[in-house]
Amino acid sequence: MELSGGLHSNGFIQGQAIIQSAKTIDRAAEDLVCKAESMGLMVGDVDRVIGPAMGAINISGDIARHISFRSELFDCLSGYTEKAYDGARKYMVLRQVCIRRAERIVLCDDVLSTGLNVRLAAEAILRAYGIVLPFVFVLANRSGLQEIDGRRIVSLIDYPMKTWEAGKCPLCAAGSKVFSPDSAEILAKLNWED
Ligand SMILES: [Zn+2]
Repeated sequence: MELSGGLHSNGFIQGQAIIQSAKTIDRAAEDLVCKAESMGLMVGDVDRVIGPAMGAINISGDIARHISFRSELFDCLSGYTEKAYDGARKYMVLRQVCIRRAERIVLCDDVLSTGLNVRLAAEAILRAYGIVLPFVFVLANRSGLQEIDGRRIVSLIDYPMKTWEAGKCPLCAAGSKVFSPDSAEILAKLNWED
């Protein structure tokens, strides 16, 4: 399996499987907010929830809504970043959103694989003079990490999975065929298996 960042792995977690259900994602967002509170987050401190596209586009809004509904006084906003390239260097830019200076922002993502996208989203926020709070909300954490740059991961599913650089992948060395989870071949199998 080739993940979106180019790493190889022996497994894949499809975030969309949770996100596609309005009820499931709603409960998941509520559970994440409760869990973060139990880990010390003051929800009234969160001005906005932001994560990297595509995975975080929907869940940032779901989490922000649950924070907002905690009090008449809260109006937590949401937003997302998109990847961009400077030559071969990947970075993230804020899209469809203009954050205020010193806005307090918590990061989110659907599935955490290496933490790179979340790290790049944090850099985009810092460049825009936002404050990145010390929590990262994720539905599923497959990275094996507990924190990213000192920001604690708040996850509902913890399921560490191995990843390798393509050139060092033992599955490829053993003759295994590489495929992308988004490939037409795999989607056809998932949708039409007899
Ligand atoms: Zn491989």
